[in-house]
Amino acid sequence: MTRFIFVTGGVVSSLGKGLATAALGALLQARGFKIRLRKLDPYLNVDPGTMSPTQHGEVYVTDDGAETDLDLGHYERFTGVAARKTDNITTGRIYSEVIARERRGDYLGSTVQVIPHVTDAIKAFISADPGEAEFILCEIGGTVGDIESLPFLEAIRQKANEVGRARAMFVHLTLVPYLPAVGEIKTKTTQHSVKELLSVGIQPDVILCRSDREVPLDARKKISLFCNVPVESVISLPDVNTIYQVPLTLHDHGFDRQVCRHFGIDPEPPPTLAQWHWIVDRIKHPESEVTIAVVGKYTNLLDAYKSLAEALQHGGIANNVKVRLNWLDSQIFESQDAVHYLSDVQGILVPGGFGERGTEGKIAAARFAREHKIPYFGICFGMQMAVIEAARNLAGITSAGSSEFGPVEEPVVGLLMEWVRGNTVERRSSDGDLGGTMRLGAYPCLISEGTRAFEAYRSTSIVERHRHRYEVNINFRPVLEKAGLVFSGLSPDGVLPEIVELATHPWYVGVQFHPELKSKPFEPHPLFTAFVRAAIARSRLI
Ligand code: GLN
Repeated sequence: MTRFIFVTGGVVSSLGKGLATAALGALLQARGFKIRLRKLDPYLNVDPGTMSPTQHGEVYVTDDGAETDLDLGHYERFTGVAARKTDNITTGRIYSEVIARERRGDYLGSTVQVIPHVTDAIKAFISADPGEAEFILCEIGGTVGDIESLPFLEAIRQKANEVGRARAMFVHLTLVPYLPAVGEIKTKTTQHSVKELLSVGIQPDVILCRSDREVPLDARKKISLFCNVPVESVISLPDVNTIYQVPLTLHDHGFDRQVCRHFGIDPEPPPTLAQWHWIVDRIKHPESEVTIAVVGKYTNLLDAYKSLAEALQHGGIANNVKVRLNWLDSQIFESQDAVHYLSDVQGILVPGGFGERGTEGKIAAARFAREHKIPYFGICFGMQMAVIEAARNLAGITSAGSSEFGPVEEPVVGLLMEWVRGNTVERRSSDGDLGGTMRLGAYPCLISEGTRAFEAYRSTSIVERHRHRYEVNINFRPVLEKAGLVFSGLSPDGVLPEIVELATHPWYVGVQFHPELKSKPFEPHPLFTAFVRAAIARSRLI
């Protein structure tokens, strides 16, 4: 029988609720349980796909083509359980479903209301499609006290009441600040957020105390007293050096033991955590380091590149080096000669992006990498910019551009109007909806042997996740190949260029998909491993 663990947050957001949920998932797995992780987001967008990356952070794409919250990336990286469309829901999606049902007449005769209709839809989502999961972990986005999270809190309260408290558990993660002026840890913030939770009928079973330091016993006792939770269930979660330390820290503080106790599970024997110890040790003791410049346009909110930063770290773990990231706004490379600042790095990566701003800077960075033989990795937009650069400067197509930026004389990158998904053809028009209509999710790609891509993957057939509206125009293939660009990966029908590279360069690879979404600490992505390896080789040269 499936058990439910609901994770809420208090005081402020960005405390690491997603990471704590992912880490608990990993701890339960390490005890031999099968799990699923879900995220309930209270905002009104149907999905985060239409939000600015600098507001919401990365959009994490699942194999089945859903645009989801970045926390699903943490869930996948920590547990290896592939997230699905049914693992992320928003108020927008719930309401559009309820309203569509109302129009169909499914509620004929009733007044449609938040309780029970919206809360019923939320509860149906929480327990939908459990597969073999013995635990479903549900993280509620935002913080308690937000107007928009109320229906979600009401729904989880009802759910726990329905399945019984022996099958449901509430975990509340809250801020416990240290005030340097008085040299003291303060528990009042936690008391208030628990009070807020109690006002909607939820008594937390465990309180996770996020702080920049260890929360001492006297403070935990105080929280226990005021919040009606046994002191062993008030768990300190101090800042740690690497996120992969979180499962170990939570375990050391007794979190999974308390979870077992709540559900009447014998906490002995303890979970097997050898692989987590191994990874933390590996991260803490690299043999050397390399610096990679990431030339993007959302560099003022690094959450926009969450999976990318992780995947680069995984590439470092695979090669036993520390990867230092130099986040650079591509616009700085639009002024003459600024690209020379890139001489000192051992690798240049141009990540995904949308819109014209900053593109000439990305093209300049790609050119600099090509001309100076610095390892280059172009991801999605970064591949498109590398192809435009090659078209202009190698093939002599001076007016090469992308139709994403308006009418262009030579659309080397153009709008994708039609493509094959499995046995069906997907079609788009230039005036269609923008939400959820990109080429999304997992698609196969065939790789030619004797290429950098094959060297990395050691396979001629791969599957990677996509999220883009434009595509390199296959009609330019002959002229670009003649100029030296190798089309090393193509869609199985041979129409969509998926990987390009330069044969005469130490490592210059562009991919139309997002490999960072599939990289995991225990399974570093082969392209990131190969890119970091090339960066190490470069560091030996200079
Ligand atoms: N803007 C480009 C497109 O839509 C690239 C998207 C991306 O980098 N994810 O095709």
